[in-house]
Amino acid sequence: MDRWIVGNWKMNGAGAEISAYAAGLRKADTQGWGPRNVHVAVCPPYPFLAAVRQALAGLPVGLGAQNVHPAAQGAFTGEVSAGMLREQGVQVCIVGHSERRALFHEADAFIGEKLRAVATAGIRPILCVGETLAEREAGRQLAVVQGQLAGCLAGADAAAESLLVAYEPVWAIGTGRTATAAQAQEMHAAIRAWLAARWTAAASRSIPLLYGGSVTAQNAAGLFAETDVNGALVGGASLKADAFLEIVQHA
Ligand code: PEP
Repeated sequence: MDRWIVGNWKMNGAGAEISAYAAGLRKADTQGWGPRNVHVAVCPPYPFLAAVRQALAGLPVGLGAQNVHPAAQGAFTGEVSAGMLREQGVQVCIVGHSERRALFHEADAFIGEKLRAVATAGIRPILCVGETLAEREAGRQLAVVQGQLAGCLAGADAAAESLLVAYEPVWAIGTGRTATAAQAQEMHAAIRAWLAARWTAAASRSIPLLYGGSVTAQNAAGLFAETDVNGALVGGASLKADAFLEIVQHA
């Protein structure tokens, strides 16, 4: 299975920092990424998409978006469609991040609409799922994640081929508290099993499962050693090129 390391800048970064970031990535020995089948992408805020695309030209680093609106066009002030993202060269798009679910009240059905719009536009969706601390403490993590998968992937058969799933326990995001490798593996195996039941075992094996939640160069190797952890969605540690590259080296 190929490895995927995707950086989510969230609402961080500044136009002036982009060339330094790209220069940092350019220093990396990217030759090794091909034979190891490592896919790397960064998801900057919308206004920086074009600048990041230009700065990364010639590097094996893809362009990602953090969000999308499901409609093709229309009266949705402040929103951006999948077609517009595609026009900007976006290759992957995060949908259902826990911050969007919690702060912007996005529900599974709406996230499913986004996912289908993204896949239809030829962009690979990265569907985020994950439980809160209260849900884990109540032993409900599996049921919560399975419910999110069911709600977001209803009617999404056509998206199966391009789908990536990111397991991001909410209690691990931005907290410095990473899930243990065993906790990540347990959930990833359950997600893989759910996907196998939803589609086929072969299809489930071709869907990359990323772990997200306080991934750093220090804990990445342990997470990536697990059978069903195929990479990472990285927030804070993706903001500096050097730290991000250290994680990529462990992939
Ligand atoms: C994220 O927001 O997707 C994330 C994983 O953040 P962090 O790595 O900072 O926990």
